[in-house]
Amino acid sequence: MQRVSKDTFIYAMSAKNKPAAHVEPGTQVLFETWDALHGQLQTADAGFESLDWDCVNPATGPIYINGAEPGDVLSVKIESIEVSGAGIVLCGAGMGVMGHALQGHCTKIVPIKDGLVHFSDAIKLPLNKMIGVIGTAPKSGEIPCGVPDLHGGNMDCKEIREGATVLLPVNVPGALLAIGDLHAVMGDGEIGVTGVEVAGSVTVTVDIFKGKALQLPMIRNDSHVMTLASDEDLDKAVDMSVANMISFLTESEGFSPEDAVMLTSLVADVRICQVVDPKKTVRVEFPREHLRSE
Ligand code: CA
Repeated sequence: MQRVSKDTFIYAMSAKNKPAAHVEPGTQVLFETWDALHGQLQTADAGFESLDWDCVNPATGPIYINGAEPGDVLSVKIESIEVSGAGIVLCGAGMGVMGHALQGHCTKIVPIKDGLVHFSDAIKLPLNKMIGVIGTAPKSGEIPCGVPDLHGGNMDCKEIREGATVLLPVNVPGALLAIGDLHAVMGDGEIGVTGVEVAGSVTVTVDIFKGKALQLPMIRNDSHVMTLASDEDLDKAVDMSVANMISFLTESEGFSPEDAVMLTSLVADVRICQVVDPKKTVRVEFPREHLRSE
């Protein structure tokens, strides 16, 4: 197994980033990850005003997958996610959906133990560990790790968890995969501006699919195949993620456009991943039991 230290991190995804490691397809890779605030907040009552917002959303890596070429699909199977013993939750003025109604800011450090997130003495939440930032280098330029887009990035999708496989585009040689921003638990929408932000590690198996023309990013788990899309406009993100699912069903599964639309209307769920990042992210979940190739 290849280990990638959290000492090798990036704040933006770009073809210019120097690889932290080169790996063969089929390799297991363990990424150590910072929390989304890069460890700047360790206590609830100290440090918020001095937060350096240019130093947030670090992603560990990138790693270069040998043989990956533009036009390929990168498959990232999430084998396991480990989180540290405490996480951070934030809300406040100007942040998230309710930022207009809040004064100042509030920071909560929440212990994580025995599979539970200790929000308060009375409220303990089951762990639902997920990856906030996972992406490849974009075709051109650089995209901050806090922004979701066609390359993946800060999608903050709670279905990116243990057992799921994330499919990402290969835009540059080696793909340059980077991962960060774990959450111990988060609701769809992430309305306050954070989940339980936590450091930890992720073990994945990377692979390459040649010659697959898929509208990406996608997720596949035991029960569903999902398409994701991000845009400043939530309506556009819905339209894009639905169109991507219809493309998948017609081009990869052989459905007629009419059957693809009708079936998606009947059995698929359109869900919000998050509405608080620079672009909002939507996913369409289609049950695998109705796929022709299954
Ligand atoms: Ca995030």
